[in-house]
Amino acid sequence: MIYLDAAASTPVRREVLEAMWPYLAGEFGNPSSHHSLGDAAAAALAGAREATAKALGCRPGEVVFTSGGTEADNLAVKGIALARRAADPRLDRVVVSAVEHPAVEESARYLERVHGFAVDVVPVDRYGQVTEAALAAVLRPETALVSIMYANNEVGTVQPVARLAALAHAHGVPLHTDAVQAAGWLPLDFRALGVDALSLSGHKLGAPKGCGALIVRGRTRLEPLLHGGGQERGRRSGTGNVAGAVALATALGLAGSGQPAAAARVAALRDEFIRAVVAAVPGALPTGHPVERLPSVASFCFPGTSGESVLLELERRGVICSSGSACAAGSDEPSPVLLAMGISAEVAQTAVRFSFDGNVTAADLDQAAAAVRAAVGSVRTLGA
Ligand code: PLP
Repeated sequence: MIYLDAAASTPVRREVLEAMWPYLAGEFGNPSSHHSLGDAAAAALAGAREATAKALGCRPGEVVFTSGGTEADNLAVKGIALARRAADPRLDRVVVSAVEHPAVEESARYLERVHGFAVDVVPVDRYGQVTEAALAAVLRPETALVSIMYANNEVGTVQPVARLAALAHAHGVPLHTDAVQAAGWLPLDFRALGVDALSLSGHKLGAPKGCGALIVRGRTRLEPLLHGGGQERGRRSGTGNVAGAVALATALGLAGSGQPAAAARVAALRDEFIRAVVAAVPGALPTGHPVERLPSVASFCFPGTSGESVLLELERRGVICSSGSACAAGSDEPSPVLLAMGISAEVAQTAVRFSFDGNVTAADLDQAAAAVRAAVGSVRTLGA
């Protein structure tokens, strides 16, 4: 089997498992307990916070451990917008891009539905990118927050986040970025990006599901979503997931150390794979930005097929991938991301995403390209 769905989830890396194991077994204490086991857990949590901060170029106090990317996105969008409006009632609008993950999009819709915010959606160009002009056009004096992802999970397009953050700041508005897919592949320097909040998820980079973090710039006001014992400096109550935090920190460290070389190697394989698929499959339409894209994602539409049928045919041939987003998988609706890029609903239904981890090889991708040709051919023949 060739697994090309790393953007959905990755296996836990051995080093990560070994680092977290003690905190699931012998060192199982509650980090808030005042005894030796509690102290050991608290020390591990503090160490993970420091290592995470070091990997991201932020301060340890700016790291809020969460249960994953979804919680980090919810905390950023709701927490910052609600806190800013509490301080200034005129701030009752939020801006999101048209290609956000549902964790951001639905958080904004919740603010609209329950808290009376207005949501302004920034359109994207045909590559899925937000331009500065497009963002400038929706910023208003009432804008409380802008949320624009670093890299898209369906088509891999990378946004000019640093420039968009500078533009938002020029209007006095903080910017949150969902960096869940970027982590491990793109430089993640919190200060250099200049954002106010940044979401991460462990299971996309070799840590287990159920751990993640929101990095929040020191002075940013944040209304918590979870109330209770006041952990994470009151920003996220609940007994700390010590093993999860250690896992996330370890995975970030491992991803960061070899990143530029690994990213360049995988990007070259990705480009070769895209070329091979375009050459082998008549009408194949690569989606997303041709250059400013994640090294790890190749995405296509195959007009005249159905994405779901191509996936089944690919799996029969030993290639596991997805139609774009695990969250939307199985739904009959065309991807809102592709629609926002100007792709018709009919063509959007034919989307297939291949996403790689750092171990992918040229041989895997040669085999996958041959399987794509056979799978698309078979679906077209059956459909004809
Ligand atoms: N944001 C993006 C861009 C994602 O791709 C995902 C996961 O698919 C998430 C957020 C949600 O992360 P998690 O699965 O940790 O909740």
